[in-house]
Amino acid sequence: MTLCFATNNTHKVKEIQALLGNSFNLQSLNDIGCTEELAEDQDTIEGNSLQKAQYVFDHYQVACFADDTGLEVEALKGAPGVYSARYAGTQRNADDNMQLLLKNLQGKDNLSARFRTVITLITPTGTHQFEGILNGTITFDKRGTQGFGYDPVFVPDGYKQTLAEFNLEEKNKISHRARAVEKLVLFLKASL
Ligand code: IMP
Repeated sequence: MTLCFATNNTHKVKEIQALLGNSFNLQSLNDIGCTEELAEDQDTIEGNSLQKAQYVFDHYQVACFADDTGLEVEALKGAPGVYSARYAGTQRNADDNMQLLLKNLQGKDNLSARFRTVITLITPTGTHQFEGILNGTITFDKRGTQGFGYDPVFVPDGYKQTLAEFNLEEKNKISHRARAVEKLVLFLKASL
C-alpha cells in the first residue's frame, strides 16, 4: 500500500518506513510532487493535523497522514499549545519561545506540562486520529543541547534530565510523537 506522510523531513519518513515494514511504501510530499507549503492555520492541534492531511488527500488523491504537535502547560491553560512553534513571534525561534514561556511561568507553583502529538490518517475508507502524550514539568534550569524546540526546559515524568539531555534513540522510546506513531502503525498493520 502506498501512503504519503505530509512532511519533507526525510528523517521522519525513514523512521516510520522502518516501523511499517515492506507492505507499505511511504512517500514524502516531494515524492508525490507537492511543493507548496501546507497551511496550518486552525486553532487546535487536531485541526492542523487534519487540515494538512485533508489538503494532500483532496489535491493528490493519495492515502496520507499528517502530524501536529504542541506543548500544553497547565498553569497557562494549555498554552502555547497549537501556537508552540510561533509562541514568541513569526520568527519561530526556539530560544525566544522558551524565554517567553519561562517569563509567563514566573511565580507559578504548578509547572506541569505535556507534549501532545496528533496524527491524522485519511484513506479512501475514512479518517482516523491517533494521539501521543508525554507528561512532564517545565524547569527554569535550561539544560542540554540535543533535540529541538522546548526540549531544554522539559523534564519528562520519572526522569531528572531534560529532553535535550536525551539522545535521539532514548527520546524516541518515550516521546509523544513515537507514541502516536506506534498507534498509527498498529492500526495500519491491522487493516492490511
Ligand atoms: P510540529 O507540529 O512537529 O511542527 O511542532 C510544533 C512545535 O512544537 C515545534 O516548532 C516545537 O516548538 C514544538 N515541539 C514539537 N515537538 C517537540 C519536541 O519533541 N520537543 C520540543 N519541542 C517540540
